[in-house]
Amino acid sequence: MSQREDRIKNKIRARCAEEIQEEAALLRARADHAPELDWFLDLLAAGPDSSVIAERVGRPVAAVLCLQAPLELFHACGVHPYKIFGGSQTAPRLSGPSLPAVMCPMLRSALGLLLLDSAEDGGAGCAGWVIPTTCDWVVKFPEMMRVCGRPIERPVHMMELPHLKDRPGSQERWLEEVYALRDFLSSLGGRKPDRRQLLASMQVYQEAWGAFSELTALKREGRLPALWFSVITNAFFFDSVERWTEHVRAVAAKFRGTEPAGKGVFLAGSPIFFPNLKILHLLEDAGLNPVADDLCSAERLFPGAVFCDDPSEHGMLKAMAQRYHQGCLCPTFADNDRRVNNIVSPANRGLFGGVVFQVLKGCHPFDLESLSLEQRLKDEGLKYIKLETDYTAEDSQNLLTRLEACRSTLD
Ligand code: SF4
Repeated sequence: MSQREDRIKNKIRARCAEEIQEEAALLRARADHAPELDWFLDLLAAGPDSSVIAERVGRPVAAVLCLQAPLELFHACGVHPYKIFGGSQTAPRLSGPSLPAVMCPMLRSALGLLLLDSAEDGGAGCAGWVIPTTCDWVVKFPEMMRVCGRPIERPVHMMELPHLKDRPGSQERWLEEVYALRDFLSSLGGRKPDRRQLLASMQVYQEAWGAFSELTALKREGRLPALWFSVITNAFFFDSVERWTEHVRAVAAKFRGTEPAGKGVFLAGSPIFFPNLKILHLLEDAGLNPVADDLCSAERLFPGAVFCDDPSEHGMLKAMAQRYHQGCLCPTFADNDRRVNNIVSPANRGLFGGVVFQVLKGCHPFDLESLSLEQRLKDEGLKYIKLETDYTAEDSQNLLTRLEACRSTLD
């Protein structure tokens, strides 16, 4: 690397660190900040360096691009899953010149951060990579890493995701993929889990799901702001699931007595990652409170706990496969009425009067989905606003004006 390239990289690295510290300081200065939240903020503030995470969790780390790979299986194989994401507005300066002008800004940011990773190949703190074939940007991620000059040099395991999930054939194929994932993760973690280990890992995640459900209930009641909810979910992959669960319970206990604030809305669309929490700040500034969401960075972190009637090894793998395939609301599925049904479900009646749909420029799956969603939601009597945004602060005032106008229609 030339001295000039090195200088540019160091400058970008410093600015990325500033972004993180600025957002963390903003959050710590809030009136509703509680010491119980510091564990999550500290993890995020330490940054996403793969080697640091591997050392913290004391297990081999596998990078994972999307949430369809059963987390219980990583755990049972002795591997820690780390979801690749990018919330930095600065990191794309490093990756952007090698990539298409219009592309998923979240992954462009993730690529930039991987180019800053201290490990020799971006993300080499990761023992391997798991890539479910969801959207095109995800599928092409290894190629984009290569184009950016940091090819992945660790084993990459692709999981072919059947996009018609209601077909019985799809479910069988997905189960085969889960078996293949088990073998891959076993090779990274050095152990092939037996029935007992699979069951123990399912129980660990049932606990995590229980704590997460408490947190979600507080958000439904308007007591836990979506900003804090996102901080907690964003920090999920930075440490062990057991420690995360323990700290989630402490936060839930803290927020149980707080007063609800703002007008309830449902937040849908592209994921939101620290430190780019712009949309969540703007919603608050406009007097809106996202009491429910279907973001893969927030409520869709888990598809739910996995339980099974058949305690054989096959029975448990089948239950995991079904839960992560059938329970997933990703817009890349072709048969996905469940996504809109989830928003208008009877359980949500009366919780919110409108839906804020935010889409990142270049995030085609969510952009396309918004076409069919709007009419269906309006037919249900819900207000609907679509915001298109990017990893920049420049559109903030414009977005705020539109959100304030939306707020005034909800009274
Ligand atoms: S679904 Fe959207 S946000 Fe997620 S990786 Fe694909 S383009 Fe990016």
